[in-house]
Amino acid sequence: MPEEIVTRVLCLPGYGIYAAEADEAANTLTLWIRQTAGEPYYVCGGCGISVREIHSWTERRIRDLAWGTWTVWLHVEVHRVRCRRCGVRTERLPFVNGKAHYTARLEAVVAQDCEAAPVSRVAVQRGLPPETVRRMDKRALRRWAAARPRTPLHYLGVDEIFLGKTVKFLTVVSDLESGEPLWVGLERKRETLDQFFAEALPPARRRAVRAVCVDMWEPFRLSLKAHVPHAKIVYDKFHVLRHASDALDETRRAEFFRQGGEARGLIRGKRWLLLRRWAHLDDEERETLRRLFAVNRRLAKAYLLKEQLAHLWTYTYEGAARRFLTNWLLALRWQRLPAFQKLARMLMQHLEGILNYCHEKVPFGKVEAINGNIRAMLRRGRGYRDHEYLLLKVQ
Ligand SMILES: [Zn+2]
Repeated sequence: MPEEIVTRVLCLPGYGIYAAEADEAANTLTLWIRQTAGEPYYVCGGCGISVREIHSWTERRIRDLAWGTWTVWLHVEVHRVRCRRCGVRTERLPFVNGKAHYTARLEAVVAQDCEAAPVSRVAVQRGLPPETVRRMDKRALRRWAAARPRTPLHYLGVDEIFLGKTVKFLTVVSDLESGEPLWVGLERKRETLDQFFAEALPPARRRAVRAVCVDMWEPFRLSLKAHVPHAKIVYDKFHVLRHASDALDETRRAEFFRQGGEARGLIRGKRWLLLRRWAHLDDEERETLRRLFAVNRRLAKAYLLKEQLAHLWTYTYEGAARRFLTNWLLALRWQRLPAFQKLARMLMQHLEGILNYCHEKVPFGKVEAINGNIRAMLRRGRGYRDHEYLLLKVQ
């Protein structure tokens, strides 16, 4: 094979081919390469200066981009050099990242493929083991994440994602201004959030945090009090409203069993209709609910209470929000709605964090959006057991 042409096709500046072997059966091309300069320099892997003096050398097999249908392997001389600063170190090859067994350009292409396709498909397309593809993607993402500028964190979001029976929860911490997840950890204990602060948010960066949007979940509150005591805790509106939906659902079930005959028939199968917001229903659905409410006043009251509660987050003045909530609680009296009594107690216990929204308008919607992305990613990747990789992928 004319070495000169192959060297030009290979296009690794400073390196040339001195031997080549083509295995037709395996469709594999093996190229032996080395520096072309008469007295070459080697870059010290420790400090990056150029070194001439060689201690020893070995050969490393490195996978490169395919040439047409050929799989290409490079055999490179890798030198141990005597650096005057670092002593004996392995040289740094200009076309390989670190100690990888593939070229930087192959890694870049694979990482780009992984943006649009799952690891398994990229592995098949590139003829690489899935584990290698995942490692290449992860390395590329890690470098990208490290190079990103860090802006101060003002609004943190802490939320959990339900996974399944074995590992039940993932805790996700995100930057609510940029809408990016910052950290993912196992379970949803106080220790989980403590770990986030230890790993990802050094004390110097905690001061900028103004508010944290979080679920009404005591372990998280305790961790936040310990690490960012100055930050306002704002309870996530969607979580609070989900509790209200649960209360409505509990009322529906209780009414179903309390009543007999015709009324029971009206309640049957209305669960999803009841749990939707009035504004999202069409005329026919509203009429169905009106008929149901006409015969069951308690359910009507419960639905109204749940609908009204959402107004709580429209106030800018704490006094007004407090007044609204007081009226809401008054409307609840004498209604014999135990599920809502329970909800009311929960709201009173978390009153400060709910009213804090008047002072810190954290973007609630972002938390939901970020979690939606992560859930989609988990489904597509059939569960990223590697949380660092999951986090890098969603950033
Ligand atoms: Zn050195």
